[in-house]
Amino acid sequence: MFDHPGFASHEGVHAFHDAETGLRLVIAVHSTALGPAAGGCRMWDYADGNAMVTDALRLSQGMSYKNAMADLPLGGGKAVIWGNPRTDKTPDMFKAFGRAIESLNGQYWTAEDVGLTPADLAFARQETAYVAGLDQGDAASVDPSPVTAEGVFRGIGIALKHATGSDDYSGRSVAVQGLGHVGGDVVRKLRHAGAKVFIADIHNDVVEKIADETGAEPVSVDEILFLEVDALSPNALGAIINPDTVNRLNCKVVAGGANNQLATPQLGEVLRMREITYAPDYVINGGGIINVAAEISGNYSRDWVFGKLDQLMSTLDLVLGRAKQEGRPSNEVADELAEARILAAKQAR
Ligand code: NAD
Repeated sequence: MFDHPGFASHEGVHAFHDAETGLRLVIAVHSTALGPAAGGCRMWDYADGNAMVTDALRLSQGMSYKNAMADLPLGGGKAVIWGNPRTDKTPDMFKAFGRAIESLNGQYWTAEDVGLTPADLAFARQETAYVAGLDQGDAASVDPSPVTAEGVFRGIGIALKHATGSDDYSGRSVAVQGLGHVGGDVVRKLRHAGAKVFIADIHNDVVEKIADETGAEPVSVDEILFLEVDALSPNALGAIINPDTVNRLNCKVVAGGANNQLATPQLGEVLRMREITYAPDYVINGGGIINVAAEISGNYSRDWVFGKLDQLMSTLDLVLGRAKQEGRPSNEVADELAEARILAAKQAR
């Protein structure tokens, strides 16, 4: 673990196995400097255990930075379950997941991420209180994805403003990769605002549904990243900006909800050199965790959530402005700000 390239002074990395339900789970707690670690749970059919741990380490560090940038009293953590979310889920598996969380005594709060639904979380909630993103109960905030999607939508406009001088969506072209909880809503909002939208997803049924509903134009999953468009909005999985793809991008802006979009931080500089404005993923996609934080506080308020989202969008604007002014990659500027906030909290403790 200590030699793993994704290990970044994580406070704890916990592996769980439940033989009865087949649960294979890693919970990574990156930092609790700002408060209890919070971050969603992802279920994915990983190639191997190493890929699973890599995801948990990177995602949990990303959550520390994301929570710091959204100015929340939360640290960073993430859970990953190894399995196929379409075929392997059982209620008992999610109860075992809940017991694993409970064993960490409140160090980690979970919520929804790729592959999970509020119904899965409700089973975990039977075993532990440290679950947010529920759709029932006093403080239930329901699915955080619409707030994430609203932030991504607004963030595309902010990035376009920095890249082109105007944040007007009408007549713009946007390629949206991934049409799940976040991507689907982003497409609806973009179409509503008058943008031309190209869409792709590995599931054809989802593509057909969104295309019928919004008039967006389907293209193949192999094409979507490389279309000549104003903005590319990645809303599927991470590492889609990598040495194979980065020089083939044909857009002015990369602004999407997916976590860990850059395969390595150095690719931020490659984007900058190519004059592509990159909205750092953990800044633009912080809307969902703001919603989750409101639920964790026990006193959910929509006004508070949207006030924090406004503040986060100003932070995104600041990061992109500073990056341009200083001639530096936007991900580096964002990391610097997040690290300063985490360090200040550590020192204050
Ligand atoms: P989701 O599971 O609902 O949707 C993901 C979609 O991407 C699915 O429809 C899937 O079929 C598709 N997909 C997977 N691989 C693909 C590929 N190679 N090409 C095209 N499509 C592909 O997940 P979501 O909740 O919409 O989250 C999307 C991304 O946003 C993830 O990276 C997630 O970590 C991140 N994110 C989500 C939230 C949230 O509130 N849901 C918050 C912050 C970040």
